[in-house]
Order: sequence, then structure tokens, then C-alpha cells
Amino acid sequence: MPENILIAIAWPYANAEIHVGNITGSHLPGDIVARYHRLKGNKVLMVSGTDSHGTPVTLRADAEGRPVEEVYKKFHEGFLDVFRGYGITYDLFTTTHTENHFKVSQTIFLALQKNGLLFRQKTKQWYSPSTARFLPDRYVEGTCYICGYEGARSDQCDNCGNVLEPERLLNPRSKLGGTLELRETEHYYLDLSKLEPDVREFLKERADHLRETVLGESLGKIQAEGLKPRPITRDLDWGIPVPVQEAGWESKKLYVWFEAVIGYLSAAIEWGSLQADKDAWREWWVNPEARQFYFIGKDNIFFHTSLWPAQLMGAGSAFMELFEDDEAPLTLPYDVPANQFMNLEGRKISGSRNWAVWGLDALTRYDADALRYYLTVNMPENKDSDWDWAEFLARNNNELVATWGNLANRVLAFCYKHWEGHVPDVDLATLRDTDLRLMSVIENGFTTVGAELEAVRLRSALTEAMKLATAVNQYLDQTAPWSAIKTDRDEAAKTIYTALKAIDSLKVLFAPFLPFSSERLHGFFGYQIPLFGEQYTEDESDSLGEHRVLRYRAGDARSSTGWERSRLEPGAKLNQPAPLFKKLDESVIEEERARLGN
Ligand SMILES: [Zn+2]
Repeated sequence: MPENILIAIAWPYANAEIHVGNITGSHLPGDIVARYHRLKGNKVLMVSGTDSHGTPVTLRADAEGRPVEEVYKKFHEGFLDVFRGYGITYDLFTTTHTENHFKVSQTIFLALQKNGLLFRQKTKQWYSPSTARFLPDRYVEGTCYICGYEGARSDQCDNCGNVLEPERLLNPRSKLGGTLELRETEHYYLDLSKLEPDVREFLKERADHLRETVLGESLGKIQAEGLKPRPITRDLDWGIPVPVQEAGWESKKLYVWFEAVIGYLSAAIEWGSLQADKDAWREWWVNPEARQFYFIGKDNIFFHTSLWPAQLMGAGSAFMELFEDDEAPLTLPYDVPANQFMNLEGRKISGSRNWAVWGLDALTRYDADALRYYLTVNMPENKDSDWDWAEFLARNNNELVATWGNLANRVLAFCYKHWEGHVPDVDLATLRDTDLRLMSVIENGFTTVGAELEAVRLRSALTEAMKLATAVNQYLDQTAPWSAIKTDRDEAAKTIYTALKAIDSLKVLFAPFLPFSSERLHGFFGYQIPLFGEQYTEDESDSLGEHRVLRYRAGDARSSTGWERSRLEPGAKLNQPAPLFKKLDESVIEEERARLGN
């Protein structure tokens, strides 16, 4: 029975371009797991979108003196280019600025209200008399009253990581300039204390497969501090209106932490609206058997492991009742394999100082698979990792090119030349023990690499696949078909047939990680139906205007290659092979280092 797998990936803020740290942090691991499950024949839905609301976006627009809509769209378009370039196969990559997302978010709000989990409270917020507006979170900076850090935001300190009460911030300064004063305002709060027992239970049930780092930031934090009520509305012009018809509330919006996570649900519903069966999204969201994986960075763990499940459990079956007049609870997250951060040449990545390797820029000089390879072997799964240009070069040349690329190219080119473009027509009954042994080792790889992928241990999965490529190289060293061809063509044929079968299987094992080169290799082997489907963009429109989305058209699943060993037949026709990867010159290291920080 195929499983329903939801791949939910962190929504990038529309205030900065995507760099390699963002790619390895969430988009790439999500894509690898999605591609693996698609090969296995599971039903995958992979969604995300641009977080178009929130103060990082409005601040950027204020700084540039441009309309927020223009700013979010510019970054959104750039994101679509990055994901196409790296082959991040979203079934739907949309934005939070859609009518659908507004409606779904407001319905979650109303469901929580119906279940008695919201309350109103008056608080004091920083107000700017000169611009006649409240200035939430990132608009106000000052000194943290907990650790003394001078660059703390009014709602959060990036130094000590604590959530702050804005009115207690010391030496507050407005990012817009001018004076500040505290004024009273009223907001809705989600009463998380009522949901705390459910959230604890939810986390305990998943404790055996959640990463240690993730468990510490969720269950550990709740055990230490408890879950306290949290405001879910803000005084802001840009965002989703609060669904209450009362004077004074039209100037308030849903808090971005509250509505952005709802995007995982609304994007699935939007994807459904584009299908023949509009209810198709329910297979991942109103289905207790569906497994949901959330790919995020460590700074987002609490939101996805504690607050989002609280929102879902709090809404309960009231969401479906209000949304579709059909009472049913929503599916809860299964795993949140959050990554740590990737640094760059020993320092924290910093966009503003240009201490970054930018996603689109890197693609102008390197192939996507070379970048995907390094970003996977160096993925910050359990601790921070470091992008080092010398290591990038070494890994590319010694592993990707020497161990895997050359293996595939040398065997295919040799076969193409000596067997006139066909797989040697060997009698399978004559294969030697050494051939059968290699085939069995490679076949076993589908279990071992698959087990690592199931558990989202992607570095280990890729290392395991690379070990199998090494085993094929060792087999070729022992059987030496290059010289055997001159003395015993039949023996050489057995070796080449066996090696081709191994490479054809390795192509599938590498495919989730290296989709572009695996697809090319698939073509060299003469297969007509591609391994994967295609990405494309489409324009959608609603009452809020137009938005472009990235989509994925799956191939013909019934007849395409799955997560299983090669079925290559003796005598099959091949296509002209070519090298899969490029060896890089040492000079790259200094050239790339010279770009940093300028
Ligand atoms: Zn602090």
C-alpha cells in the first residue's frame, strides 16, 4: 500500500535571497526525502511558499521606499528560480499572500475561538507618534533586559534566544527614527497553557524518532518553562485581517508566527484546488495514516514542534466543520528533522556583509548536482557544519568525479565502444561468483540506503551509496576488463555486464541526491521514461491579485523506474555516454574566497 507522505518545508521570508545555508537547512533535505518516497511509489505532496507578511518584509520595503507587494514579489520570483535551478521539486510553492491562505488562517483562528482557546488582553506596545502607528517586534531594537545584549529586537533577543516582553526592553530605539512611547492596545492570545498537556503527550509519542536536538528544544523547553499564552494578533497594516467585526480591529492583523505555519495546510488546499479532485489534499491532512515531515532550521524548532501542533490540536475538528462542514481532526506532524546551521569558511553566514554563497550565483559556475552533493555530505544534521571551498573542491574531485562519475563514464564508454552501443549479450547462467556477489551487495544497498533515508539520516545515506560505488571500483580493479578484452572477450563481457547492472542500480540509489546526473545516466542506459517528473511555473489569480507558483508534474509512475535494483537486460541498446561531472581546478578555491565579504 503506498503511503501518504507530506513534505513540509520552512517558508522563506521575502526579505533576502536564498544562500547555501538555507538550501542545506531545509529545501534540499526535504527534496531528497520527497524524491526517495516518489521512487518508492509513495504518494508525496511537497509544499511551501514565500512568507510574504511579517515585519522583516515590511522593514525591507520601508528601507527601500517601495510598496511591500513589489518587494515580496521580487524575492518570491528569485526563490522560484533557485528551486528550479537546484531541482527542489515542490508540488506547490506558493505565497502567504493569497485569498486561500487568508481564508484558511482565519478559519483556524475561528476554530480556536470556537473551542474556547482564545482570549483578549490589553497590553502596552511601542508607538511612534510621528508616524502615528504601533511598531511591533523588529521595528524596535534596544538592550535585552535578560542578557544585556544591545541589539535585541523588542520581541526576541538573538543573543540569549529568549522571547522578550516588548515593554521591558531597555533603551528602545525605533528603526524608523523618531521618538517612541508605550501605548495601550488590545490583542488576541492563544491560551497555550490549556494545550500544554496535549503538546507534551504529542512530543512524548514521537520521542523515539525525533532528533535529540529537536526534543531538547521542544519537550525539554516545555518541561522547564511550561507553555504560556502567546499573542496571535499585531497592530500592522500588512497581513491577514483578524476575523472579528468590531471597531478598532480593522487595523490589526494575524501575527506572522501564527499564520505562516498555517501555510502547510493552506498550500495543500491550494494544490488541491488545481487538481481534478479538489479534495485530494485531504489524503495528507485529514488522514491519520499520513506521515508529515517538516524540514526547518534550528531557529524554527519550537514553532513547528510545539506551537503548530498546539494550533492543530486546538482547532480540532472545528476547522473542518467551519471550512467544509465536515467534522474531522487534522493530521498532526510525524517528524520534524530540523537541521542546525551551516557556516562559511569558519564564520557565520551574513547576507548584509556578503559573507555568503548565494544560491543563484553559485549555479552560474557549478552544476546543481555538484552543489547538492557537497550540501548533503556536509549537511548540518546534528551540529553546525562549515562550507569550506577547499573541501568543496576535494569532495567534488575525489568523490563525486573520481569515485562515482568516472566509474559510470569509464564502464559505459568502454562498453559502448567494444560492444557497438549495446549491453554485452551474456548468458546469465555463466556469471561467476564474484559477479553474483557484487550484484547482491548492490541490491542490499536498496535496504541499507533506504533505511537511512527513511530515518532522514541523509549524510549517512549518501555515504552508504558512495561506499557501494567504491565496491564496484574494487570489483573492476580485480576483474580488469580493460586488459581481459584482449585475451578473453567473454570474461570481459561478464564483468562489463555486471558493472553496468551495478551502475544502473547505483543511479537509482544516487537519484534522490543527484537527480540531474542520474537522469542523464538513465538516458545513457537507453530508458525512454524519465526517473522523475518536471518542474514548471504557473500564474494564479484571486481577489488579491496574481501570484506565480512553482509546480511539479509527476511522470508516469506505473512504468517508470522505482526504488529497486536494475532490470537491465543483456543485449539492451545504449545511448552515447558522456562524463557526468566536471573536475574543478585548484584555482577555484582562491577565486571563491576572494569573492567573500566584498
Ligand atoms: Zn538577551
